[in-house]
Amino acid sequence: IDKQLNHRGAARSVVAMAAMLAHEVKNPLSGIRGAAQLLEENASEDDQILTRLICDEADRIVALVDRMEVFTDGRPLERQAVNIHAVLEHVRRIAQTGFARHIRFVEKYDPSLPPVLGNRDQLVQVFLNLVKNAAEACPEQGGEILLTTAYQHGVRLAVSGSDSRMQLPLLVCVGDNGPGIPEDIRANLFDPFVTTKMNGTGLGLALVAKIIGDHGGVIDFESVPKRTIFKVSLPVTDQNGHGEGA
Ligand code: ADP
Ligand code: MG
Repeated sequence: IDKQLNHRGAARSVVAMAAMLAHEVKNPLSGIRGAAQLLEENASEDDQILTRLICDEADRIVALVDRMEVFTDGRPLERQAVNIHAVLEHVRRIAQTGFARHIRFVEKYDPSLPPVLGNRDQLVQVFLNLVKNAAEACPEQGGEILLTTAYQHGVRLAVSGSDSRMQLPLLVCVGDNGPGIPEDIRANLFDPFVTTKMNGTGLGLALVAKIIGDHGGVIDFESVPKRTIFKVSLPVTDQNGHGEGA
């Protein structure tokens, strides 16, 4: 099953929503924090442990919201030539020392892959989200995550409204051998708040779609039991600013 979806609208709405949420959350939070601080002054030692906890956790939420605001503040994307293999290696290292310790990684990289014109931090965020989802889908035993890159010579895909020099010959795939994407959420997979997880946010793939869209790329997926693959296509621009063969 192969679905080509239009995620741009959803991507825009998640940004607007995230910005609003960030703003709305901070006010009541500073109220909670202030109240806890007042309580702390006259609290017993035991209760001070609790008021400390409230303050610390409130601070944690503020830090989280601040990071989200940086992400959604609408500043133009800073682009540089990004080596996707370095991005994937970085992500794999984070995964294998953290949430994916028990998972086997299989990497198949195309050495002819040119750099991507993009934002490294955001691309790390994209592949970290995809690898995290893959890890969470993997079976407890024998989990496997596949990372592949390919440079598709001769691919010409026009991106409407963007620079005509941009093409999408660069393909990065993140695969896993989990149960597959539940049928009932496939049509809305990249919308915000779509989740099947107990503690999921449903924001991971919405952010992924937003960042890939900002990069003039496209994301797509194939999913059957034991084989789910997210396919990210990205544009490249050659040194002379011309498209391949142009
Ligand atoms: P979250 O991970 O917080 O649930 P995401 O936007 O990252 O939010 O993912 C949305 C949903 O898509 C997940 O809850 C899960 O049901 C499904 N999903 C995403 N990636 C995979 C995958 N590799 N295999 C199976 N299901 C997936
Ligand atoms: Mg996720």
